[in-house]
Amino acid sequence: MPVQTQCILSIKSPLGPPIEILKHVFPALSNKPRVSFVTGLHGDELEGLYICHRLTQYLKELENTNPSAIQGEINIYPAVNSQALESSTRLWPFFSLDINRTFGPGQNPSLAVETSQTLLDDLQSSSDIVIDFHSSNLHLMELPQIRIIKDFEKKLLPLAKKSNVDLIWVHPNADIFESTLGFNLNRAKIPTLVIETGICHRIHQNRGDQIFNGMLNLLHYTGTLNITPPSEIIKEPKQVQPDQVAMVQASHSGLFIKQVEVGQILEKSDRLGKLIDPVTGNVLEEIVTPCSGLLFTLREHPLTHKGSPLARIAKNLSEQ
Ligand SMILES: [Zn+2]
Repeated sequence: MPVQTQCILSIKSPLGPPIEILKHVFPALSNKPRVSFVTGLHGDELEGLYICHRLTQYLKELENTNPSAIQGEINIYPAVNSQALESSTRLWPFFSLDINRTFGPGQNPSLAVETSQTLLDDLQSSSDIVIDFHSSNLHLMELPQIRIIKDFEKKLLPLAKKSNVDLIWVHPNADIFESTLGFNLNRAKIPTLVIETGICHRIHQNRGDQIFNGMLNLLHYTGTLNITPPSEIIKEPKQVQPDQVAMVQASHSGLFIKQVEVGQILEKSDRLGKLIDPVTGNVLEEIVTPCSGLLFTLREHPLTHKGSPLARIAKNLSEQ
């Protein structure tokens, strides 16, 4: 049976087309783990849309060339917040709501909550593992990474290590996570990886392709796809806890002129860039790294205020 596209939610809207959530279902021949991919909870984050495009193309071709390879059902939810995507905004446009803060118990009823509850129910009924793709905000560029809440570490780490990301960041829980899709699925005992990469409003094909290969590797590992895993060498991600991450912040307001790129391995006191005063032309501050390690976050939006984040570095083991 070939891929089927299902509409899991359709609500009439007074403005143009209805509010809909679609999913592509690639049916399986056996009962290996069912894996679901979700993208576009935030409408201005486009990297995941590209990765899901590649996955959909790949699976459609596999159905033609090697249909018995699909051993576990695969579901792709390609753009779950189409209103926000159409207006290219992070938030649900009518109410300025962050959809990824409307999951789980204790939410006030609203159209957005009805939408997120339907998505959560559908994912719970059709998935053994979920991958939720995100990008960063407008300010910071992120290297492909997975952030894991400590309580869920045991189940998620083995999956995260197969995903071809550069970094795994294990951090304690906080109240703000409890209304996210990832937290609620993990609490419901459906292992869910939240992958963050790049920056919003942009697509970085190389990094998207890196995660696409990671997803094929993961699907092979779980037995969901009976394929030869990708020939690309899968990265051994650097694993950090919060005290192993150094954050660099601006001491002045100004323009940040970067002199490095994410992914670079830095030595202590290497130059990251400079802060300049655009009016006087003076250099306000030379920004250097406080430690050696992997540069995994870097400011892309030059306008900074005092205290603005400029960079994050995963410290080298010797300095921890
Ligand atoms: Zn997001």
